[in-house]
Amino acid sequence: MIKLRNIDKYIDKRFQRTFILKDINLDIEEGEFITVMGPSGAGKSTLLNILGFLDDPSEGEYYFYDEAVHSLSEKRKSDYHKSHIGFVFQAYHLIDELTVYENIEMPLLYRKVRGKQRKAMVADMLDRFNIVAKKDLFPPQLSGGQQQVVGVARALIGNPKLILADEPTGNLHSEQSEEIMELFTKLNEEEGVTIIQVTHSEKMAGYGNRIINLKDGTVVEENPYEDQKVDM
Ligand code: ADP
Ligand code: ADP
Repeated sequence: MIKLRNIDKYIDKRFQRTFILKDINLDIEEGEFITVMGPSGAGKSTLLNILGFLDDPSEGEYYFYDEAVHSLSEKRKSDYHKSHIGFVFQAYHLIDELTVYENIEMPLLYRKVRGKQRKAMVADMLDRFNIVAKKDLFPPQLSGGQQQVVGVARALIGNPKLILADEPTGNLHSEQSEEIMELFTKLNEEEGVTIIQVTHSEKMAGYGNRIINLKDGTVVEENPYEDQKVDM
């Protein structure tokens, strides 16, 4: 599904070049649930943004289903992002002035999905995540865990192939974190959604099937958890 070849990301300032990512090579299969770990500043968010078409590598090649992302126009990249990727953020990034319903509906408005279909899609999502009763509430009226459920629902509304989650449980208590991880596991196992999450928690990493460890912008270790999940 994803191939990264010799990806570098650097910032040039005066006569100094600072590498954020250096020589990243990764192959990610459809249906994987991957955890990216590593110390603060290792380049995890930058990697996630590149994978989600939100940032461009300085060098190297990125193939998404054999499409050469590195040579796509900005417009095509933005279309790709909208139609294939769902992003989940640590701080939820919900709009506090919009209801739960309107937050989930938002990506469909950007995609110009027509009214009737939009309604059906949001209703389906509310139902699936058991939040029908919360649909007219505003995010600040919900607990952190509930807000993240809304964040996941919004990320999934367009049926993306790939969910990218940057510390999705970073602001949650352990019980809520486990609920979100169980949600991810279900999406991954039952619907084949590929998930790439960043976390600092060994426990949350245990939900995935492979850990990619980054340090100073390079992959230092890859651990397949093949004994945990086979034939999914
Ligand atoms: P992580 O998510 O692992 O904490 P990041 O990807 O956020 O790491 O950042 C990696 C390093 O690159 C950090 O030292 C950060 O300060 C630096 N960095 C990230 N983006 C930029 C940028 N646009 N300009 C300059 N430095 C950046
Ligand atoms: P937690 O995230 O552990 O549930 P919170 O303090 O976020 O802890 O919320 C505790 C409970 O209080 C939640 O069930 C939530 O629905 C409710 N709650 C939190 N903030 C508000 C608010 N601004 N208005 C109404 N209910 C709230």
